[in-house]
Amino acid sequence: MNLLLIRLIIFAVLFWAGLKLYRMYREWKLAQDNDSRPEAIDDGRMVRCAYCRVHLPEQDAVRRDALWFCCEGHHSRFLEEQQPKG
Ligand SMILES: [Zn+2]
Repeated sequence: MNLLLIRLIIFAVLFWAGLKLYRMYREWKLAQDNDSRPEAIDDGRMVRCAYCRVHLPEQDAVRRDALWFCCEGHHSRFLEEQQPKG
């Protein structure tokens, strides 16, 4: 009876260790997949056009003062709407 108990304990420990190793492997594999994902945009920051509120990469945006715009046209239209007419 004692031997059976010891076998059960050994089996439980092995099972627990295997589960732990499997989880570690899965986390490692997930990290590897995230690193090699080609569609991820890690190099560019996303900014928002102050006029039309569209999101675009920083390198494609136009910066005027502290604001970002998707194009030069939206910058001038933004200024037109900011300044009161007359
Ligand atoms: Zn815009």
